[in-house]
Amino acid sequence: MEPDFDILKHQKHAHRLLGAFLKSGHIPHALLFTGIEGSGKRDAAFTFAMACNCEESPTDWVQGLKKTVFGPIPCGRCLPCRKIVSGNHPDMILLAPERSVIKIARIRQLCHELSLKPYEAKRRVAVIVDAPWMTPEAGNALLKILEEPPPQTLLILTAVQRSDLLPTLVSRCHSIRFHPLPESHIAAALQNRLGLSADEADALAPMANGSLSRALAMANREAGASKWLNRRRAIISASGLDRPESFSFEPLTLSLAFAERLSDEKERIPEALDILQCYLRDLVALRWASPHLFNKDLTHKMQYVSQHTRLEVLMTQIEAIQRAQRNLTANVNPRLALETMMIHLRNACHE
Ligand SMILES: [Zn+2]
Repeated sequence: MEPDFDILKHQKHAHRLLGAFLKSGHIPHALLFTGIEGSGKRDAAFTFAMACNCEESPTDWVQGLKKTVFGPIPCGRCLPCRKIVSGNHPDMILLAPERSVIKIARIRQLCHELSLKPYEAKRRVAVIVDAPWMTPEAGNALLKILEEPPPQTLLILTAVQRSDLLPTLVSRCHSIRFHPLPESHIAAALQNRLGLSADEADALAPMANGSLSRALAMANREAGASKWLNRRRAIISASGLDRPESFSFEPLTLSLAFAERLSDEKERIPEALDILQCYLRDLVALRWASPHLFNKDLTHKMQYVSQHTRLEVLMTQIEAIQRAQRNLTANVNPRLALETMMIHLRNACHE
């Protein structure tokens, strides 16, 4: 999918810093973009690469920083901009993990490419996406490039957090933090990119926790947001948590059957547990009349459940889900982890 070149409108901290670099002409030779997956780090790297090479409007880009409404970021029309947009710029290098790893051979190849002169760019840009997936050997090879930076070259690394990378790498990069994206932007992107209705987009956006890629994946996977929203309702309902504490008096076999069904779809378990946890967090938030809810469209129903369930029950249930998440990460048998979780969810009501 084509990068979102407006992304920096929603990452004002990054926009301000990058704009200041451009304006001063002093661009560090290595940047590290950190933030949750889906907060626009990769798109921002492409946008900045364009801004560094744009022939028309780098000044607009800088001037835009002073306006409430941002100016063009960057022109998008000149030859370098168009080449970067279409993925055909010879000096724009993108390196991403293959099968969850970045091997030393790929970094050595990058070293070789960067030892040659740029073909045509004012500033060549190499982006290493998910840099923590580099093997230690690959990381050390990259360190050599950072110690002797090639001229006219900018390296951009992306990671969720600085601590995921070797400290020696971090110390040689200028770090820029990306924040979770606002719900309004995610909702707009769901409408524009996937053609969701405004109601669907508004219901789904809060569930993405500020991650555009997560929102797109949720809407895409079910070939439509309405299916995803139905699945969410089905999971909450089958767990029994959509009813007040009384669900714990229903037959245990129902809870165990739910655990079994869920364990059959192994790759979707994390998402289902996220759904349940977000739902319980909403029930807690409603106690304090908080407007910040994940499942805004279910507010009316959740209010009833929230009022009829003790707070300590909700807290114990959230812990039970978190324990199941930890167990699954530690490779406990999924069915066992989920059955245990369901028993704890029910028992919480009797404590
Ligand atoms: Zn341009």
